Parts: sequence; structure tokens; C-alpha cells
Amino acid sequence: MIRASGKLVALSAVALGVGATFVVTTSATALAYPIRPAVPPNTSLDRVRVLDPVLRSAFDRGVSRSPTFVRLVAHLQQSDLMVYLVPGTCPGLHVDACLVSVNQQGRYRYIRINFVLIRRAEGTALWRSPVKLAAQIGHELQHAVEIADEPSVVDGASLGRMHQRNGAHVNHVGYETDAALKVADVVLREVIRNVRTR
Ligand SMILES: [Zn+2]
Repeated sequence: MIRASGKLVALSAVALGVGATFVVTTSATALAYPIRPAVPPNTSLDRVRVLDPVLRSAFDRGVSRSPTFVRLVAHLQQSDLMVYLVPGTCPGLHVDACLVSVNQQGRYRYIRINFVLIRRAEGTALWRSPVKLAAQIGHELQHAVEIADEPSVVDGASLGRMHQRNGAHVNHVGYETDAALKVADVVLREVIRNVRTR
């Protein structure tokens, strides 16, 4: 899971609805495009960056309907992280999202999380379901919070050490945490419940 180069980046993904979980190691392709902020970061900027319209819509849905989702965003807002949520690819055929890079530049740490919205030229379950996508985003934001609370995590190698210290689940592609699995379930329920009551 963790590459000897130390470039790694482990992470996760949960196949919502079937209970399967996956965690992923980063791909060389993803690492070929390091995140470069368009402007110098400052404390007034949002710590979670979501420019893609499909991801943005699901993100806004989470913020408006899930108290758990709001708490995660608020937690990150108080951290030294800049979290980028972007459409992309992940290793494996069943991985819906994956954290593909962690790095530090100056006072800030940067995280990029890919969401698989298109696979083999077709929209994935996440693309078709804003509710599932909101839950998946919540799941990944929980992973971001885990990193936010561990200042020692500044790259893939240190991320792997954190997961090992904390007893994260290990499978053939990376790590998974109980907290992130739980968050996905809770956010899913909150978003669905609040849709039905409106
Ligand atoms: Zn995960």
C-alpha cells in the first residue's frame, strides 16, 4: 500500500450501499499533477475547495442537510489544511474516491481527493446520485479531519504511519477507518431524512 518512494498516499473509498470498503494507494498519474494554489492561501479562504459543478452541488447538499457534514467542514475550517475535492480516477474497479496526495508547503498542508464520477465513459453511481455523492464527500472529509488532527502527517509515508498507529484497517489497496465508514452512513441518513421532510 505505501510505496517505498514515500510518495504514496493512502486512502479510502466506500462503496455506498453494498458495505464494501476500499482504500487506495496513490497513482503515479495523480502525483504528476501536484496541487498549486491559484493564489497564496490565507486564513479567510475556504479550506475545502470544490470547483466541479457536480461535486459542488453535492457538497452544498451536504452542508444544507447534514449537521455531521457541517461539523466536518467547520473542523477543517479551523485547521491548517487546504482540501481539494476534484473529479478523477482511483486504482481498482470498485473504488469510488481516494485521497491521492498530501503535502506541505509553508504553513499549510494540501490534500487532494479524487472522486470517480465517470468510468468507461459512463456516469458512476456517485455521478447519478447526489445523495450518495454527499455521503462519499462526508466520508472523505472525515479522512481529512483525521489528517488535520495529526500535524505529523505531511506526506504519504507519514500518513501511512498515522494509520498504522491508529489501527486503521488495511486491505490490498490501502487503509480504511471506522470513523469514516460511520460518517458516510450518518451523512447519508441525514441527507435522505432532510430531503423527505422538506
Ligand atoms: Zn475511507
